[in-house]
Amino acid sequence: MIAAKMLIDGAWVDSRGARIEVINPARGEVIGTVPVATPEDIDEALRAAKSALPDWSGRPPAQRAAVLNRIAAVIAERAEDLGRQMTAEQGKPVNEAVGEISKLADTFAFYAEEATRVHGEIIPNTSNAYQSLVTYEPVGVIAAITPWNYPAELIGWKLAAGLAAGCTLVIKPPELTPLCPLAIMACLQEAGLPPGVANMVTGSGARVGQRLIESPLVDKIAFTGSSAVGLHIQQSIKDIKSLSLELGGNSPLIVTAKADLEAAVKGAVRRSFRNCGQICIAVNRIYVAEPVYDAFLEKFAATADALVVDDGLDNPAADLGALCSQEPLGKTEAHLADAVDKGARLICGGAPPEGAKFESGFFFRPTAVADCTHDMLVMTQETFGPLVGIAPFATLKDAVRLANDTPYGLAAYAYTKDLDEMRYLSRHLDYGSVAVNTVDPGIINAPYGGRKQSGIGVEHGRDGLFEYLHAKHIRVCFDEDAIS
Ligand code: NAD
Repeated sequence: MIAAKMLIDGAWVDSRGARIEVINPARGEVIGTVPVATPEDIDEALRAAKSALPDWSGRPPAQRAAVLNRIAAVIAERAEDLGRQMTAEQGKPVNEAVGEISKLADTFAFYAEEATRVHGEIIPNTSNAYQSLVTYEPVGVIAAITPWNYPAELIGWKLAAGLAAGCTLVIKPPELTPLCPLAIMACLQEAGLPPGVANMVTGSGARVGQRLIESPLVDKIAFTGSSAVGLHIQQSIKDIKSLSLELGGNSPLIVTAKADLEAAVKGAVRRSFRNCGQICIAVNRIYVAEPVYDAFLEKFAATADALVVDDGLDNPAADLGALCSQEPLGKTEAHLADAVDKGARLICGGAPPEGAKFESGFFFRPTAVADCTHDMLVMTQETFGPLVGIAPFATLKDAVRLANDTPYGLAAYAYTKDLDEMRYLSRHLDYGSVAVNTVDPGIINAPYGGRKQSGIGVEHGRDGLFEYLHAKHIRVCFDEDAIS
């Protein structure tokens, strides 16, 4: 049983208020508690971030890069322990969790390099007497708020880019998975990050998160979470501050008659069920060309049925662990019941795995329903569970129309071997990321962000770093006549 503390101004602070329990979702056991930050705790963390700002932002980028590289090394060394900690509170199998931690270490290494490549430009003016210099300066104090599905990476994208830019942060991790994030903060400390540069306060979104975002000490809010909470945040801030919102999705996958069907099935199954479908870019709905529809369904069901569902601590290599809580499990069951009621055909899964070991946890078999239509929740809302809806299409234009028929715009996928189809799909799918013949749209070097109700701003890559920098224009008038 872990009795965790929060990191404020370089010190591990115990609860001055209540504590909340952290549960292993595979076993239903309480594995630890974390403090609920009081308003005083939150304000202290913000003041610490504010006073650490001049020193951290004033350091030459190479010095900040050296700290980021040390953080990367410490995290990589601890990958196994951090991964097991994540599995214990999130449910994903250990191998998957350790993979997430390795990517977190890579993120720090990537932004260590990018930190040293922030440079401005000199812009000619209409008169030679003038010169315009553009430089970049850190935005300031960042409030970073994240969800539970990727407890390490989603913090890492904000933390590594923010630190590289010279910002300081107060982070609020999710209520369900705060222990792994707190263990990551210990790595930062061990790597020599100065006190106050990155702080972490724990507790609920409605109280701790809300106080953070409303604070006048915060210069930018970097939020990942649901579209509903993102909208609430946008509407509830009372002063002008920078805002980036990485929100929900409802990702389509299109399989044309010219696709490599084996590859399409493999990709579709992976992106529908990895992390139990609790991914903002999970495949929610699949549109398959009529001539290959039946063959796709048959292969998809067989591949999904072969996936291993297990307790992720006992079986590190399982394909699916437990869902993180009752909420995504309940939504999965509700979307399944709705689809079947409206005429969808269950082709695999549809129930929890059998056996006593699954009774105390939030488990569900990978599930797919065929012959779906857009009056079903599974085709129009984010399920965030191991359920996918499948439908046939007649023409590629129909498929793109259906794929774009959503308020979301995070990521879309397509499988085709035909160049003209590839070009049409990449141009007309209205999404921040389009992945063709792969289901891994996100890499740390390239920008990643949503459109429409999926958010504003980007993470990853050079663009992700510039989200934490303000441009400054310095216009200088020179006097050549003064030169003798
Ligand atoms: P959520 O919006 O309920 O919570 C996210 C975070 O916001 C949590 O830390 C929560 O405590 C906090 N929060 C809640 N109310 C708040 C408030 N009033 N003020 C400040 N903070 C508040 O989301 P969730 O259920 O934890 O996560 C799932 C959602 O996250 C899904 O919709 C998923 O698509 C989305 N997501 C998006 C991305 C992306 O990159 N676009 C990545 C992962 C997850």
